[in-house]
Amino acid sequence: MAACVRQGKTIGFVPTMGALHDGHGSLVKQACAENDVCVVSVFVNPTQFNNKEDLLKYPRNINKDADFLADLGVHFVFAPTPEEMYSQEEMEHEFTFDFDGLDLVMEGKMRPGHFNGVVQVVSRLFDLVQPTRAYFGEKDFQQLAIIHHMVERSSLAERYASLKIVDCPIVRETSGLAMSSRNERLSNEEKQTAVAISQTLFASLQWAKTASVKDVQQRVIDTINAVDGLEVEYYEIVDKNTLQPTDCWDNAVGCVTVYCGPVRLIDNIRYQ
Ligand code: AMP
Repeated sequence: MAACVRQGKTIGFVPTMGALHDGHGSLVKQACAENDVCVVSVFVNPTQFNNKEDLLKYPRNINKDADFLADLGVHFVFAPTPEEMYSQEEMEHEFTFDFDGLDLVMEGKMRPGHFNGVVQVVSRLFDLVQPTRAYFGEKDFQQLAIIHHMVERSSLAERYASLKIVDCPIVRETSGLAMSSRNERLSNEEKQTAVAISQTLFASLQWAKTASVKDVQQRVIDTINAVDGLEVEYYEIVDKNTLQPTDCWDNAVGCVTVYCGPVRLIDNIRYQ
């Protein structure tokens, strides 16, 4: 990468955990279109999993991913092993980072340590790849807010002063289901069931026109929980910048996590 930087080439970077689908594909296409060189990493980062079983069951298929990325015209694929990324010490001791409270809600609350692992891996990848622009999906809304914080306002901000974070919209199946590597673990029947998650979020845009935040929050939870096979872990309506629960619709984003059988799915919707 150093040669590309020396030659003044712009580098677009898309970090992923593999099991690639068209949601990843949209980030990759944008990165290829907007930069001289496109780099994609494929790394299931062990330090961001607080649940060992989730880590073990995370879908992996590097050969299929490599073909997918070659078809999209990606120049470099970086697929390191955990040992190449981390020392033993780093694997055993949790990296800690100041999130200014952004990690105390939703995914951060349910998955303690998760975002420490995310910042650890993303900052290491940024240091190795030295991107001009890095592309992240709005599907992982809290993660995106945390990456913006890391690059723009945290103690690391100076190091990444010349890096631009690019927000990319959620890509959905025609059914409305948000694309996710975890969907690979769903049966066809479960995929049908899971459609109720996005359907309910879309319906809530209408409800929000006449109801309070609190009432819409409860109605979303009740509607999804009424579907056999789905169980809401949380549905929070938060301010898009602070991620703190809000009671007004300005800048509101609804973030949901739902178990479909053993598979944990996330989705979100903007009310403005
Ligand atoms: P992952 O492999 O799940 O870590 O995702 C890698 C990147 O792709 C993250 O920035 C995700 O937010 C993004 N991504 C995953 N699924 C989607 C989707 N359905 N639409 C848009 N971006 C996505």
